[in-house]
Amino acid sequence: MNVAESYVKLVLAVGRHDADYVDAYYGPDEWKTEAESASVPLPEVERRASALIAEIGDQPDTPHIPASRRTFLCRQLEALVARVQMLRGTRFSFDEEARALYDVTPPINTEPHFQDLVSRLDGALPGHGPVPERYVSYRNRFVIPAGRVDAVFQAAIAAGRERTARHIPLPPNESFIVEYVTDKPWSGYNWYQGSCRSVIQVNTNLPIYIDRAVDLACHEGYPGHHVYNALLEQTLVRDRGWLEFTVYPLFSPQSLIAEGSANYGIELALPGAERNEFEREVLFPVAGLPASSVDEYYGVQTLVRELSYAGNEAARRYLDGEIDADAAVQWLERYALMAPALARQRIRFFDKYRSYVINYNLGQDLVRAYVERAAGPSEDQRWAVFAELLSSPLLPSSLSGDSA
Ligand SMILES: [Zn+2]
Repeated sequence: MNVAESYVKLVLAVGRHDADYVDAYYGPDEWKTEAESASVPLPEVERRASALIAEIGDQPDTPHIPASRRTFLCRQLEALVARVQMLRGTRFSFDEEARALYDVTPPINTEPHFQDLVSRLDGALPGHGPVPERYVSYRNRFVIPAGRVDAVFQAAIAAGRERTARHIPLPPNESFIVEYVTDKPWSGYNWYQGSCRSVIQVNTNLPIYIDRAVDLACHEGYPGHHVYNALLEQTLVRDRGWLEFTVYPLFSPQSLIAEGSANYGIELALPGAERNEFEREVLFPVAGLPASSVDEYYGVQTLVRELSYAGNEAARRYLDGEIDADAAVQWLERYALMAPALARQRIRFFDKYRSYVINYNLGQDLVRAYVERAAGPSEDQRWAVFAELLSSPLLPSSLSGDSA
C-alpha cells in the first residue's frame, strides 16, 4: 500500500470516531466502504499513524514524492495523532492544541490592548454612549432584508468570480450551489463534493449584515474554499496523482491554509477602495440600503476587524477553563463587539471547533505576509503567488518561514 492510500484510510478511520473530522472526501469509493465496514479502534489508529510517519520519514526524496509532499503528509499525520489523543481524553491547553493541530503558535493579546482598540472606535461611530452597544445598534442599520439575501449573495458571488477568473484560470465545469440553512454554529460553510463542485451553505438564523455578503462570497466561493479545493483537485490529484488530497481532515494544518487563504482572498479580490465602489454601486442598491453610508460603514468595519483577535482570547480563556460561557459572551460583547445572540452562537462554535478559531485571523495574517513578501506590490504577482499557494502542499510553518 502506498503512503497516500494509508494516510487517506487513517483519516477516514478517525472519521468513524469524530463526525466533524472528515470535511470532504472524493477518493475511491471502496476506501470509504472499507472504512465504514470496520471501525479501527483509536489506539490502533494512533499506532498505525506513528508507524506511517516513521515510514515516510525514512523514504528518500523522489520526483513522485518530493520533500514538500513528505513533509506535508508527516505534519498532517502528527496532527491526526493529536486529534486521536484528544478523542481518547487528552486535554491540551488552547495553545498546545493550536500547535499540535494547526502548526502555529497563536499570539497572546492583553485586555488593555483591546480596550485601546475599542476606545479608538469612539470617535468613528455616530451617537453617544458605550461603544459596544452603539456599534451593535449602528450595525443593525445594515442588515440585508431577508427577501433580498439571495440576490445580494448572487451579486457578490458574481463579482468574486469575475475578479478571480481575471487572474486564475478556473477549472472547466467548476460550479457550486448555495443553500440557506438554520441552527448552525457557523455563518457559512463550503462542503466540497469533488469534480470541482461545492455546496455552500449560509446560516440564516441571525440577521445577515451587508459586509458579510462579499466576505462569505469570497471566503466560501471565489477565490476562497471553492477555488482552493478545485485547484488542489486539478493540480495535485488529477495532474500528479497525489490521492492524499482527496480527503480533507478538518482538524489539521491544512485548515490554517484553507481559512487563511479564504479570508485573505476577500481583500485580494476586492481591495479597500474597489470594494467600497462595488458596495456603493451594486450591493447596497440590491439590498435597498443607503449607498451614501458605504464609506462611513466600511471605515468603521476596518477598525472593528482589528478586534478579531479578541475572539481568540475569549476562546483561549473559555476553553482553558479560566472563564465560563457567560463570561466569554460578555467578553465577546465588550471586545469583539458582537450582538448578544451572535456571541452565544460563537460559544457554540468554540465548543465544537475549539482552537480552530485561530485559523481565520492568524491564518489570514500569515497568508497575507507570505504573499506580500513573495510578490511585492504588484497585484498580478500577488495573484500568481496566491494561486501557487492554493495549488501546493504548503504548511503553516512554511508560510511564516519557520522550519517545517
Ligand atoms: Zn472557511
